[in-house]
Amino acid sequence: MKARSEPRVVHACCAPCLSAMLEELRGEGAVPTAYFYNPNIHPLLEFRRRLKACQVLAERERLPLVACGDYGLDAFLDAIGERRARPQRCRVCYAMRLEATARHAAEGGFAVFTSTLLVSPQQDRDAIVELGHAAAARFGVAFDDTDRRHLHDAGVERARRLQLYRQQYCGCIWSEFERYRDTAAELYRGGQRPLSPTPLSLPGRGEGEGLGSRRARPSPSPLPGREGRQGGTGF
Ligand code: SF4
Repeated sequence: MKARSEPRVVHACCAPCLSAMLEELRGEGAVPTAYFYNPNIHPLLEFRRRLKACQVLAERERLPLVACGDYGLDAFLDAIGERRARPQRCRVCYAMRLEATARHAAEGGFAVFTSTLLVSPQQDRDAIVELGHAAAARFGVAFDDTDRRHLHDAGVERARRLQLYRQQYCGCIWSEFERYRDTAAELYRGGQRPLSPTPLSLPGRGEGEGLGSRRARPSPSPLPGREGRQGGTGF
């Protein structure tokens, strides 16, 4: 392993983890530069939110950032093929992102790369380490596999303070399904009212109310379960 102060490319999967990792890397004397390549993030608006959060953070922190802004849905689904279940799909997902980062590091003259994936306690660290070193060997660079999971909570807190977007699920469309399938909590976010269970009164037929004056009905309670993770990020 190279010296910790070696300049390095940091694969950035999200702003909260990047934020925490950046602070620690700089504390170690390293000069990080970020690389955003995440074709696993779906759907499009979620991809844009996470990319934008990284750009906002990079600007604030004067962090060099190279971002692949292409929405990589097709490339990701092609790579996954039939391997849709965990842990197979996650290995493909890690390999895609780590290989792209290793290539980017090699082409940019960097000797070392690492990934914010190493911050998340919910990711498969063993697979990331194995695939990171394999990608590094392929492109003639080194993979810094330092365990950064202790940074996770600090990253969430820092993102909250900086008002950075914090994702609610890992990234791919399957992980979005796994996150929300047991809850209706997200249905009513954004100030939207639930659909009325009763027909609307037409003007002149009810008590004088039309569409514009219809009173908001209280939102139904979310289903019990996983809604307590609102506003956090575990990924
Ligand atoms: S769950 Fe996360 S790591 Fe696994 S394939 Fe989906 S986005 Fe990638």
